Amino acid sequence: YQAKIQNGGCQFFNDSIIRTFLRKLDLENELRWAISRNQLTLLYQPQVNIKTGHLNGMEALIRWNHPTLGPVSPVEFIPIAEETGIIMDIGKWVLIEVCKQLNRWLSASLVVPTIAVNLSARQFLARDLASSISDIVGENCCDPQHIVIEITESSSMNDIESVLPILHEFKAFGFQIAIDDFGKGYSALGYMKQFPIDILKIDKSFVQELTSDSKSAVITKAIIDMSHGMDLRVIAEGVETQEQLDRLRMMNCDIIQGYVIDPPMSTEQLEIRYLKGVRST
Ligand code: C2E
Ligand code: MG
Ligand code: MG
Ligand code: MG
Repeated sequence: YQAKIQNGGCQFFNDSIIRTFLRKLDLENELRWAISRNQLTLLYQPQVNIKTGHLNGMEALIRWNHPTLGPVSPVEFIPIAEETGIIMDIGKWVLIEVCKQLNRWLSASLVVPTIAVNLSARQFLARDLASSISDIVGENCCDPQHIVIEITESSSMNDIESVLPILHEFKAFGFQIAIDDFGKGYSALGYMKQFPIDILKIDKSFVQELTSDSKSAVITKAIIDMSHGMDLRVIAEGVETQEQLDRLRMMNCDIIQGYVIDPPMSTEQLEIRYLKGVRST
């Protein structure tokens, strides 16, 4: 139907606007219960070194499966979690889950490379972010060296003055830092000097145009060379085809994350494909 509201002027709301609005309201209300009702899970996507074939690390990616709404993509609910502040609790939950998982794998004597967790810009508004995360990791008996903090380029450049000291704190606590979606945001290259980072992740939009757009290829190559020149590891994200993989190999890219290798997967799948048979003892 079409609702027509008159208040001086005249506003028309069509079906789709109403549906979008109600959906968001629904998600917002339900998201508040998602943790306590055990609706959240983590999947892990492998990051593989294409030179050695070894697992270099993995990224924890959140999933929300609601009993009646079904699976909701993080692309849809993370922005809502940020707006409402629920991201603070979700961020804490993700970290505790990752620590528990690290402990499970380590106590089974499996060799576990790093696990990367995504942090939202909103989380960096908490001045004590690094120490509170460090506390969580300590309480769960984990070593920060096993954890990579991923922050998107756009959120780190957004408010450099407040983000930069927090990144330095993370480093001081022993965490590794990755800049996510690199190339997509402001790309203020001068700031790269000041950022205490370990890893650059090339945004998937470049990777996906690698073989169709020569400019994307040039940018990708430039990011790879710059990373190596600065002694950073570089991860190409969203690699879907063998063609893209071959191009990245020619460009001397170290690490690949994408469907061509593996999608985000459950801990059981990851163990079978990557961790079993690589025991530390
Ligand atoms: P991101 O951090 O850039 O994560 C990479 C996204 O690319 C993931 O989407 C992953 O599933 C997807 N991907 C991996 N390989 C391929 C590929 O070959 N092709 C394509 N087209 N996509 C690929 P996902 O899991 O839907 O997550 C989307 C975004 O949601 C993430 O982007 C991240 O920004 C956010 N997110 C996910 N989990 C968390 C979390 O725990 N906390 C926060 N704050 N944000 C999260
Ligand atoms: Mg990420
Ligand atoms: Mg990314
Ligand atoms: Mg992203």
